[in-house]
Amino acid sequence: MRLLVLSDIHANLEALEACLEAAPAYDRVVNLGDVVGYNASPNEVCERVRAMGCPVVRGNHDRACSGLLGLSEFNLVAAMSARWTQTALENHHLNWLRSLPQGPVRHDDLPGVEFVHGSPRDEDEYVLDTSTATFDLHMPGHRDVIFFGHTHLQGGFADQDGKTRPFTPGYQNSDGVVQAEMTLTPGERYLINPGSVGQPRDNDWRAAFALYETDGEKPAKVTFYRAPYDVQQAQSRILAADLPERLATRLAQGR
Ligand code: ZN
Repeated sequence: MRLLVLSDIHANLEALEACLEAAPAYDRVVNLGDVVGYNASPNEVCERVRAMGCPVVRGNHDRACSGLLGLSEFNLVAAMSARWTQTALENHHLNWLRSLPQGPVRHDDLPGVEFVHGSPRDEDEYVLDTSTATFDLHMPGHRDVIFFGHTHLQGGFADQDGKTRPFTPGYQNSDGVVQAEMTLTPGERYLINPGSVGQPRDNDWRAAFALYETDGEKPAKVTFYRAPYDVQQAQSRILAADLPERLATRLAQGR
């Protein structure tokens, strides 16, 4: 099974298209949420994500932009983009966003794995440090390999007997698409973030995603990817929509 893992696309059509073009062959797709918010192509992105027919975990922006979540927790720029998105979205996409399941989402074909937006205990939790990760990785009733999003930081945490260590992909320098492989050690527990497709925040502007491979016999493997995309085009859409300029400038900075 080769599973393409996408997260935090945030209505960035150019970034999503670059990821799909850069992705190797895969059997299934899973989406960890925040399909919309921040960027300016919510209808086009919903269209493409829905056409993939894959499981999608709801993100906080999916809830906020479809009216399921109030905007009081959002900063000013995020709230402005959520309001704009709510107006811009076609009704059938709004209804689809409202219908998305809360994580953890599981898949019959992937017995040891589950998918969340924030964390297994709280869909809105940011897993940013090892103590949070240790707690989440040892919650009873959860799987050994948990894919999460929400932080927009590619990488994650591995845990062996309560000792948790963070990891980030180490890329070789290259102008085109880059990839970095990681073999999972049987018996260890993992929180794995494929990174954000549409608004990376790890000081790397390139669109991020991951591929998870398992064949039942060999240890499972995750390959992280970064794909350059047409940032200028995504920025001009943001400015043309009269969204805050900061949403455009941050794309080029990867923050
Ligand atoms: Zn997000």
